[in-house]
Amino acid sequence: MASFLLSNKNSAQIIVQRDVIIEQMVKEVSADSLKAYITRLVSFGTRSTLSTTNNKQKGIGAAREWVVQKFNEFGKNSNGRLTAYVDTTSLQPDGKRVDVVTSLGNAMATLKGTDPADNRIYIISGHLDSRVSDVMNRTADAPGANDDASGVAAVIECARIMSRHAFPSTILFVAVSGEEQGLLGAEYLAAKAKKNNWNIDAMLNNDIIGSNNSNETNIVNNTRIRVFSEGLPFFELEKNATSIRNFGLENDGSARQLARYVKETGERYVDNLEVVMVYRNDRFLRGGDHTPFVQNGFTAVRITEMNENYNHQHQDIRTENGIKYGDLIEFMDFEYLRKNTAMNLSVLANLAKAPSSPQEVKVDVKNLSNSTLLNWNAPKNGNVKGFYVLVRETTSAFWQKKFFTQNTTMTLPYSKDNYFFAVQSVNESGNESLPLVPGISR
Ligand SMILES: [Zn+2]
Repeated sequence: MASFLLSNKNSAQIIVQRDVIIEQMVKEVSADSLKAYITRLVSFGTRSTLSTTNNKQKGIGAAREWVVQKFNEFGKNSNGRLTAYVDTTSLQPDGKRVDVVTSLGNAMATLKGTDPADNRIYIISGHLDSRVSDVMNRTADAPGANDDASGVAAVIECARIMSRHAFPSTILFVAVSGEEQGLLGAEYLAAKAKKNNWNIDAMLNNDIIGSNNSNETNIVNNTRIRVFSEGLPFFELEKNATSIRNFGLENDGSARQLARYVKETGERYVDNLEVVMVYRNDRFLRGGDHTPFVQNGFTAVRITEMNENYNHQHQDIRTENGIKYGDLIEFMDFEYLRKNTAMNLSVLANLAKAPSSPQEVKVDVKNLSNSTLLNWNAPKNGNVKGFYVLVRETTSAFWQKKFFTQNTTMTLPYSKDNYFFAVQSVNESGNESLPLVPGISR
């Protein structure tokens, strides 16, 4: 991309610095804490959604009570802002993966935002339930150390650290259940969110983030993590299809924007970690808890390790031909999990501290010209220092340039025909909102 002098005197291309408070929180993420959580989660024997809820030591019931107990411990240092509970519902037999009436419970903690006028919600989730080879087996040991005690441990660690800080918007820390029986806990929560008009700005689903050793190649690589995002909005696609086609926005859906944000922010705060964007909603033959949120119109992505090991997922614990099967704690890489947790924390904190996105972002197409005029309105929530205008070539995966202005308009010497644009709000400490792609103003 050629560089140009900007016509707008109030703007200059900027390099973003780290926010010292987020930097501090990132440093607090501890591999030892993560290991302790996973050791405890594995100790429940099985966390099958169909397992017992009446035993204090074993099964999903004891596991979900323990997660809530951890949340409540952290709540003591939160000035009453972190509250936790098990959100239960009764599952009826469905002829598929639920064969008896089952108490499903999502372990939830809410870190209430400090700004009463700000109703934004950010969600980080992992799934508490685990399985062996037979998804209906509810008694055999199913350690689920990586799938998905790793995601739950990341959720717990983020709650521990973030609950000692204040954010204007609300954060939900969630360990859902029923994932292996068909995303049932996430479906329950997403439906509830839709029904109650929760203003969920972003959801990060963490599922299998704590090892990185593919079974075929034995490639060990603890420097890369994937973020999966859908390109086109599942929600109301037909309504949006015409504008997506006209403006070439098939790579600019809200989940894709969130994925770019995860990459930019995560890499800003966590050293030796590359966030690899994958342009699809999920992997083949597998689902994830972000999907019910995507289907209900929310912005959600899936975060998963780079190289999966299928000998360690959904397997009975056994040794066959010298190969050890099972999702055991000995296969975990806690330093890798620390980095992935820190990456999640930096993204969540940056979003929850940031003002909301600017409103009514428009690109002016009234005149034929080789420059671009953008206009927008101030965001609904948060203290705004100014705005970033993002620019990238239409074939570029990532935003390439970032310009700062205190105005709500900018003229750029880049043709609107040849580039994509978006606008973010930013506050004094450099926390940016999710970017908004302009609509057309005639
Ligand atoms: Zn999983």
